[in-house]
Amino acid sequence: MGRVVREQLRNLLRTGVFTTTRSWALLLSVLLLVGGGGGCSRTEPDRPNIIFFTLDTVRADRIGCYGGSMARTPHLDQIAENGLLYTQAISPASWTLPAMASIMTSVYPSRHGAYWVDRRMDGEIPTLAQSLQAAGYHTAGFHGHLLVSSLYGFDRGFDVFREIQVDLSDTAEVWANIHKGKRFEPTAEEINSEIADWIENEAIEPFFLWVHYFDPHMPYKPPAPLPQLGEGPWDRIALLGRPLQKYFQPKETMPEGMLDQLERLYDAEIHWTDRATGNLLEKLRARFPEEPLVVLTSDHGEEFKDHGHLGHTRTLYNELIRVPLILSGPGIPAGRNIGEPVQTIDIFPTLLDYLGLEPPRGIAGLPLPFTSGGRQNRMVFSETRNRFWPDSLGAEASGTQPLYFRSMQRGNWKLILSLLDDKRELFDMSGDPGERIEQAASNPDTALALLHAYHQATEPNGLLGDGGGEIENVELSEEERERLRTLGYIR
Ligand SMILES: [Zn+2]
Repeated sequence: MGRVVREQLRNLLRTGVFTTTRSWALLLSVLLLVGGGGGCSRTEPDRPNIIFFTLDTVRADRIGCYGGSMARTPHLDQIAENGLLYTQAISPASWTLPAMASIMTSVYPSRHGAYWVDRRMDGEIPTLAQSLQAAGYHTAGFHGHLLVSSLYGFDRGFDVFREIQVDLSDTAEVWANIHKGKRFEPTAEEINSEIADWIENEAIEPFFLWVHYFDPHMPYKPPAPLPQLGEGPWDRIALLGRPLQKYFQPKETMPEGMLDQLERLYDAEIHWTDRATGNLLEKLRARFPEEPLVVLTSDHGEEFKDHGHLGHTRTLYNELIRVPLILSGPGIPAGRNIGEPVQTIDIFPTLLDYLGLEPPRGIAGLPLPFTSGGRQNRMVFSETRNRFWPDSLGAEASGTQPLYFRSMQRGNWKLILSLLDDKRELFDMSGDPGERIEQAASNPDTALALLHAYHQATEPNGLLGDGGGEIENVELSEEERERLRTLGYIR
């Protein structure tokens, strides 16, 4: 069945049209018509190798093909030149665990349940890797970060799952090493060298290769600064880890020049990650010459005091949820920018649709459009939520306030809700893309229309859940907590 017909059917099912016998008969007749050789689909779907890059913490506007003025990202730009670039790709969450779990399941965080570091994603929800494995793909995942690890269920569906971690058994020693300049998480090139072994010895075509590079995440410690960006006055080591954490909150004013230097280091991390992406693709091309399908995205962005904070997790402004999303490969149009709002939860159904497979029931994503012009009114959601450890002393001791935000955008208008205190913010994303001019009071009808759509999404069969249910809690060791502390997720 072709992607367009399937999409239309899915929309009809979503709108509840098929609730009567007569409507089911209509559905059946459409299916028979399609099955009878409508001529719009692949009867023998190709099975290209699929390479799926998730670059941690890369905001879209720092990449060259997204207009980043300081960017040095020739490899990412080249992938975009050969394929489709989604200019308004919105992450369903503003930090790693919920965003990545949503990418892998195509449901929102409040549905898969992994909304905080002690929550594992619901093991009953099918993953992208499981679907591709069932379709005959050899599935291999490579990463070096706790929050996308088997601890949270990310290994489901992978024939090969390599968790490339440094030894953290003695956290004091780890910190001593960080201050000496040693990397805390494996670099992209270290991950590449693990993948090189797999390429040589284990890879079986067709394969689905998931690669998660962590480098642009704090601490910003690129292999080398970008010469064209300058070294700046700041000692790179002084900008790592805990000394920086006091500036996460808006009340702390940073010394002059520090923010600029941080951004330069962040850009350099993205540059080196771009280079690793290119190196890996070249290595794969040498061994597997057939053109692969390449998908590249990020889990969330990063804020540099855009709205007062540093880092991520704490808000749902676009510096945190607008991410790169690029698709390139056989049959994918080249050099096209798509401006419709899309989400990274769309990757899962897009890949299945591309292969002529049906996505699992209950997913929230839609196949990505290959042309512009439709779906201007799609509602896109994001969520972020934190809570304290059961043994924590509360907000005052941790220095962080509990938060639970949800955002929704349709057309130009975006509404951000704070569920803990019922505050609302409304922004016109076309006239005010930086989200500076809050308009909830001046445009109450627009806010209300978005709220209405939001309430529909939170109904029992809606796209958003309450995040509760029988979801397994994750027990973290003190060592794992320490690692999350050093990365700034908890205090
Ligand atoms: Zn992340």
